[in-house]
Amino acid sequence: MICERINEIKHTLPEGVRLVAVSKYHPASMIQEAYDGGQRIFGESHVQEMVQKYEALPKDIEWHFIGHLQTNKVKYIAPFVSLIHAVDSEHLIKEIDKQAKRVGRTIPILLEVHVAKEETKYGWAPDELLRFMESGAWRQYTNVSITGLMCMATNTDDEALIASEFEQANQLFKHITQLSDGRFKERSWGMSADYPIAIKHGATLVRIGSLIFGERDYSKHP
Ligand SMILES: *Cc1c(COP(=O)(O)O)cnc(C)c1O
Repeated sequence: MICERINEIKHTLPEGVRLVAVSKYHPASMIQEAYDGGQRIFGESHVQEMVQKYEALPKDIEWHFIGHLQTNKVKYIAPFVSLIHAVDSEHLIKEIDKQAKRVGRTIPILLEVHVAKEETKYGWAPDELLRFMESGAWRQYTNVSITGLMCMATNTDDEALIASEFEQANQLFKHITQLSDGRFKERSWGMSADYPIAIKHGATLVRIGSLIFGERDYSKHP
């Protein structure tokens, strides 16, 4: 079942768009099933849960941290995380850089841009992000590699609004990529409900959970 759903989704993705299978709240056995079918990229949004799964599962899995990351928890994932999606402050970049140095790695990250109408969503305001990139301040963090942007659209049925938010992030990406020495490549947008819109507006990574693994049972949090 899981593998069939992954294959169905993969058939709809244009070349150059990769699938992050969002496995948060689901047991390691379901990840193993997807892995056996060939899936290698998994997304988690809680540090302890990701560490436990990393320890239990095959070591060639690419673990993407997609949730809001607290600075005091960076150290737990620094040794193995493949990509941190939702980096929303310079303070967090600084901590990732420090922890990456400690373990002798360069950690790829995405900067989260706030484009949604909801006030509760995290992320940099677009103009703030632009100023940070223009300032060149990011260059001092030599053990962090900023490889692109991430965003979440408003949770709504209004497809025109969702499309305009992804497009806003896409335009910002195009602008910023010129400031990044060609390092900016990834655009992480689109979830189960809105990924077809995201791929029309430049997504290179889609983060899909419930469409693959079913509804999450929040009472079963490890
Ligand atoms: C949970 C989550 C997803 C996946 O959501 P689905 O609607 O289950 O596809 C994607 N991105 C982020 C940041 C998430 O926290």
